[in-house]
Amino acid sequence: MLEINNLHARVEDKEILKGVTLSIKAGEVHAIMGPNGSGKSTLSHVLAGREGYEVTKGGATFQGQDLLAMEPEARAAAGVFLGFQYPVEIPGVTNLYFLKAALNAQRKTRGDKELDAADFLAYVKQRVKQMQMDVKMLHRGVNEDFSGGEKKRNEILQMLVLQPKLMILDETDSGLDIDALKVVSDGINAMRSKDTATLLVTHYQRLLDYVQPDFVHVLAGGRIVKSGGPDLARELEEKGYGWLAAA
Ligand code: ADP
Ligand code: MG
Ligand code: MG
Repeated sequence: MLEINNLHARVEDKEILKGVTLSIKAGEVHAIMGPNGSGKSTLSHVLAGREGYEVTKGGATFQGQDLLAMEPEARAAAGVFLGFQYPVEIPGVTNLYFLKAALNAQRKTRGDKELDAADFLAYVKQRVKQMQMDVKMLHRGVNEDFSGGEKKRNEILQMLVLQPKLMILDETDSGLDIDALKVVSDGINAMRSKDTATLLVTHYQRLLDYVQPDFVHVLAGGRIVKSGGPDLARELEEKGYGWLAAA
């Protein structure tokens, strides 16, 4: 599903990613942990195609296609979903409009018919309920004056609407209380199947109690310095990162 091969990237003049190699197959959930400033968000941003990041070496493919050569919109249409630590606000554009436009853009690229208004509303309401959100939020500006927790729920709602194949989620757990964490985790788990894959970036083990990863990797100094199973996350929670040699 996702192959990251010796990826090097820099921001401005600073090399941040120094050779990340990672292979994620359909059906798998991989967690990336690591100290502050190790390059976790940079990795998510590079995979998302955000401006300002220069890939200097290596690359990444999604289902065999050169992911980094695709426009961000094409990535979304192909089934890549990117959720961010700080979701953007789009004041004046209602959530409902945004979700409908995003879904229809994806359907159009795939050659599917647009959903009509009534079908879309039924489709989205079911998912709003699943995320235990108030339907009124569909009529508010995208993330406008949403609390941190509401933004994260909204992000998972977007994901449930778009039904991606590959999910890359950067600190989806940050700022969530226990109840919201549970709802967000249930949303992520609902997307798990033999045909989907997830890359979960997180600081803490807490999320991984709810969304159990198949593999855990530690990113330090721009490289993956250790990989293991779910036990590695528990070990990190106990011992911190200091015992791992940062490259
Ligand atoms: P993490 O998500 O693991 O905490 P980041 O990927 O956000 O780490 O940051 C990795 C390093 O890159 C940090 O030293 C950070 O200061 C630097 N960095 C990230 N974005 C920028 C930027 N836009 N300009 C300059 N330095 C940046
Ligand atoms: Mg950080
Ligand atoms: Mg980060």
